[in-house]
Amino acid sequence: MFGWTETLVPVIGQGTWNMERDRASSIAAIRRGLDLGMTHIDTAEMYGNGKVEDIVGEAIAGRRQEVFLVSKVLPDNASRQGTMTACERSLRRLRTDCLDCYLLHWPSRHRLADTIAAFEQLVRDGKIKTWGVSNFNEDRVAEAVRIGGPNRVACNQVLYLLEERTVEHHILPICERQQIAIVGYSPFGQGRFRSHPVLEEIARARGATPRQVALRFLVRHPSVFTIPKAGRVDHVEENARAGDLPLTEEEIRRIDEAFPAGRPRRRHLPTL
Ligand code: NAP
Repeated sequence: MFGWTETLVPVIGQGTWNMERDRASSIAAIRRGLDLGMTHIDTAEMYGNGKVEDIVGEAIAGRRQEVFLVSKVLPDNASRQGTMTACERSLRRLRTDCLDCYLLHWPSRHRLADTIAAFEQLVRDGKIKTWGVSNFNEDRVAEAVRIGGPNRVACNQVLYLLEERTVEHHILPICERQQIAIVGYSPFGQGRFRSHPVLEEIARARGATPRQVALRFLVRHPSVFTIPKAGRVDHVEENARAGDLPLTEEEIRRIDEAFPAGRPRRRHLPTL
């Protein structure tokens, strides 16, 4: 768990991309995840063209208070007025009157200042509690902080899996300095997870699975979250158990060696 404003947010949450493919199974999986404490639910207006928000709305009906609910505005809709309207649509589909966090899905052709102005208006209106960004590199994070001011950008949601650790070089340190949470997406490579002897050895020693070891490694920094998507109850159950898995420094070192983060690009970092 991590203090994200006043709320405790579990470090392993639930992604929802493509959940429109099997509505009943997805709803059962989300609910089981809530039972197991995976109360951080990530969705977006883009997913299934709104169908996934509707599925999430049904899954969490009657349990809204348990959930840390995140959705995202599509960049094409992220003008000042467009963001306000998109948020209203998402709230309706999610059957709630407030989001815990609202993100810009990726950098937009609209002025970031306009999107942020809309986010701040939504906070004042009580429609969202916090806002953040997604797929922002270090320069864009710096721009968001300059426009929004200190302690306004709650998180940056970025690709983060064992085979793709680029965010660790520049984005993670800058976000940590600014107290911006990193929410890593596609921790299983969108279903292309491949095990490794090191993951298997650690898993065997701990009575766990290689996926659980992978998830636990990904949330080893206190400001990093992960949001695997599982549309099956057994998958959710496996993922949920990763939250309690202890990893020693030595185990972390071995995984780090097996899945090297690569070399950082040389560059001038934005000053923040
Ligand atoms: P992912 O979580 O890396 O992989 C999902 C796939 O892994 C599904 O096929 C799922 O199968 C399978 N899976 C999950 N747990 C499993 C388990 N324990 N055993 C076996 N298979 C398992 O991919 P993702 O959906 O791309 O990423 C996660 C979430 O991040 C998304 O759903 C979305 O919420 C978010 N995301 C955000 C962005 C962005 O631009 N901000 C981009 C991509 C993703 P089943 O469904 O059959 O269980």
